[in-house]
Order: sequence, then structure tokens, then C-alpha cells
Amino acid sequence: MSNRGLYGTAAGAAVVAAIVFSQSPLGAQVFSTGVNDTAAAVEGAAWADNVTITMNPADNTFRFESDGIPSHGFAEKYLIPTNPAAQPFADKPANFFKVVDSSEYFAETPVDTTITTQPVLAEAPTETSLGRIGVALSGAQIFNDYENMERSVVAKDDQVIHDHVAFLDECNGHTLVDGTSYHYHGIPVCIAEAAAQPGAHSAMIGVLEDGFPVYANQDVGGVIVTNGDLDECSGHFGPTPEFAEGIYHYHLTADEAPYMIDCYHGEVEENFGGGAPGQGPDLAAVAEELGVSEDDLMRALGTTMPPDFAAAAQALGLSEEALRAAMPGPGR
Ligand SMILES: [Zn+2]
Ligand SMILES: [Zn+2]
Repeated sequence: MSNRGLYGTAAGAAVVAAIVFSQSPLGAQVFSTGVNDTAAAVEGAAWADNVTITMNPADNTFRFESDGIPSHGFAEKYLIPTNPAAQPFADKPANFFKVVDSSEYFAETPVDTTITTQPVLAEAPTETSLGRIGVALSGAQIFNDYENMERSVVAKDDQVIHDHVAFLDECNGHTLVDGTSYHYHGIPVCIAEAAAQPGAHSAMIGVLEDGFPVYANQDVGGVIVTNGDLDECSGHFGPTPEFAEGIYHYHLTADEAPYMIDCYHGEVEENFGGGAPGQGPDLAAVAEELGVSEDDLMRALGTTMPPDFAAAAQALGLSEEALRAAMPGPGR
């Protein structure tokens, strides 16, 4: 499944740039006024062999490309809900799921995203969407907590196991229902850097789409971080192994939801090319054609670029084919 080509246009960027969900301002938090520069940390990170990182110093970005398959091991079998819209899944009987062999079911998913190396804190956070919100060292994708657009079902709390086959694997990951887009809903414990760094701050395990680095749940001195230590976007400012001077960074946590990152604290619009609003497809018309509300459609498409059509379709209870068909493509 590749979204490349279909939606990599200025028009698409404009749609996404317009889709910014602001919550309450963050208040009078004061952070370092220096320029954040993650280039050295990104370049020096232990990206897996299936990841290609291209540094673009001219525009202060890096490009991440992978096949989407995690470099670490994964489970032999997974539970796949037969009706992805019927959340939650934890209370469903075994026959609600099909059991798939990952060796046959997992599908390569080209991931190609360009992320700033000079992230900037935004005045107000932007809600993360379903679909990709960041990339991990393993080549897999970082998703937020939720399985549904309404943000009521937390994937990790909706874990279900029948006959020793689980919905989420031991790495806190799984694919979309069609076997694509392997992603994490919790600390990706199978990434070596996410495993315990005794007595030390976790090492960087990935980068969010807003450019700020992502860590597992150990802070300075190896102290376990919980949500109470973090802001509403699961971040804080402080030193890390890669940023001795301190940087705003995200921590995934293990104690209770949110486990993941449910809002961007950094500016995200810049990542998407900054087309002028109003030039995008007529989302109201698309929503009408699909029989969903424009609001739901916008939320499902989210802020990642290009949109994750599979995740959006799942959230809307539609087939990916139907969603793609309804979205205007370049030149249409
Ligand atoms: Zn998921
Ligand atoms: Zn920290």
C-alpha cells in the first residue's frame, strides 16, 4: 500500500494544513529559547537496516524511508477483528476475530516522510490523528493511543487474547486490519533502545512528525516517567543522552493511558508543504458522497502527510477503496 503519488500535491498539503485542531493553550510554560537542532541526533541514531535516512541540511529536514516492517521480531499469529468499526474489541468472542499468520499476512508498507530537524514549539498543541504520527528506529510507525476517531478506545487497554493469540503483540504493535502499516500503541519494547538503559535516561527511539524526539519511559537517572511528570502531550523539557543541553521531548509511558502521544506540542503545519488554504479538495462534497460528516472525515484524515487512507477508512467504517475513490486526486 503506497500513498505516494496519489496525494503528494500542494492541494493535498493545503487540506492537511487547514486541519489543525487546537486545544486549550499550554499556559505560561517557558522553554529554552535556543534553536532546537536534531540533525546530529537523527543522523547518529541506530536506525535499522530497512530504514534509509537522508539528511537535507539545506532545508533543515530529514527524509525517512522504510518498508514499514519492523526490524525486530513479531508474533507468529495475530487476532484481526472482522469488523474494525465494532470497537471495543476486548469484549468480543473468539469468533469475532480471524487468526492470521504474520508470515503471510504482513504486507510491506512503504513509509516515506520528511520531518524537520529544527522543531519549534507551538503556542497551542495539535491533536494527533489516527495513522502515522511518527517514525521509529525499527522502520515501523508510531501511532497515537486510539483505535477510533472518537478517541474513546485506547488500543493498549483494548488488548484481547484468544487461544494465546493476541491483538497487540509483545512489542505493543500490530498492523492495520489489512496487514499493512505495522505500528505501536505502547512503548516498542522490542527496540533495543527502548529497553532499560540502567540508571540512565532512555535513548531516542524515534521522532514525531513535528520533529521532536521520542523516548521510552526512563528519565534522567533511570527514574520511571509517568503521565503526572509530563504535559498534556506527554512531553517535557530536559536533558537526554542525545541532547545534553536539554530539549523538549516526548516520553511513551507504561502505567496508564495515555501511553502514546495524543497531541503535538510542536508546530506540524510546516511539515506539510504549506499550500494555501482553500485550494484543497472540497471535503464537504467528499463527506457527502461517503455519507459521513465533514468533521469526521477531516478528523479521520488527520494531519499526517500524506494521509493514512487505510487508518482513515478504518476509522470511518469504510473500505479504503471507497475512501480513495471519493478523494479527488491530482489533476482531477
Ligand atoms: Zn493499531
Ligand atoms: Zn525526559
